[in-house]
Amino acid sequence: MKVAVINSGSSSLKFKLYDMSNKEVIYSLLVENIGLKGSKIKTHHEALDSLDVDLSSIDIIGHRVVHGGEEFSEPTIVDDEVIQKIEELTHLAPLHNPANLEGILVAKQKAPNTTQVAVFDTAFHSQMPEVAYLYALPYEMYEKHKIRRYGFHGTSHSYLLKECALLLKKETIELNIISLHLGNGASACAIEKGVSIDTSMGFTPLEGLVMGTRSGDIDPAIVLYMQRDLGFSVKRVDEMLNKKSGLLGICGSSDIRDILENNDNKSKLAIDMMVRRVKKYIGSYKALLGRVDAIVFSGGIGENSAYIRDRIMDNDLAMGTPVFVIKTDEELEIARQCLSFKKIKKDINED
Ligand code: ADP
Repeated sequence: MKVAVINSGSSSLKFKLYDMSNKEVIYSLLVENIGLKGSKIKTHHEALDSLDVDLSSIDIIGHRVVHGGEEFSEPTIVDDEVIQKIEELTHLAPLHNPANLEGILVAKQKAPNTTQVAVFDTAFHSQMPEVAYLYALPYEMYEKHKIRRYGFHGTSHSYLLKECALLLKKETIELNIISLHLGNGASACAIEKGVSIDTSMGFTPLEGLVMGTRSGDIDPAIVLYMQRDLGFSVKRVDEMLNKKSGLLGICGSSDIRDILENNDNKSKLAIDMMVRRVKKYIGSYKALLGRVDAIVFSGGIGENSAYIRDRIMDNDLAMGTPVFVIKTDEELEIARQCLSFKKIKKDINED
């Protein structure tokens, strides 16, 4: 069984083709800087044109879709109705869903008879209880406008949970873990009996931890102040919070490697702020979960920086809880989810 995964991001496209009998990658392609100045590849369509693979020869094509809203809580076969719903969710993920959708549309055009499956970043968090996903706003903001916490990085947190279960020789449903995906974007997730019960990213991937260029948690009144009293436009505030804040905003770099090398006062402060925020989330998730079977680090920073991990876990924060470092693999998790989905198996067997 050959399964391809297309991760069509805002300016990049990752493609991996798996032989699912041994989960080996038999072909992969990474195209970056799509549509950016000086780049030869202008669109996701062109990126997919450069594949050295006949898409119509593949059994299943899985697509990463960032925002599934409340509609999608599991891998879903892509048909016209699903395409329309993903399009309708664009206002919740304006940078990501259109790029995801373009990957889907081109793949459908190139392989109209191949089963295509959308796997949503939000799906793993879809069982969060109301008490976790609601903001304390007037209830009608949720009812009328669907303003709630959705959570992201779900494919990664789900992969980390499964790998953790293998390491502990337990079933996922037996496990309480705190999962930390620390990359350019970063999120923490509290997993109770194999289910995400809280996570740091919310309505959008802006909330929560101090990230490479995103502020994470701030007092929402700051946004009002900047717009009302400082006269900043919505666009300016949006760009500031998403692209000019976080580590970059404090010390001028978003890359932990450079920041550690620079080692000046601002760099130290940026790291202190990032570490402190992660610690606060671990503490609050411990309080929610009670028993914690493992704390898992992943993402570019979590996997590679022992210094940051040690800083987060100092003062004996783990208190005897095993701490694992696991390299995440979102594409493999998407491929596995494509296969484990019963309806797909049934459809394919009937073909
Ligand atoms: P993305 O969210 O874009 O997928 P990654 O998970 O690849 O990001 O993480 C990227 C970040 O990981 C970089 O900005 C860098 O700060 C950090 N990183 C990567 N390698 C190392 C390393 N060897 N030591 C410290 N930090 C690292």
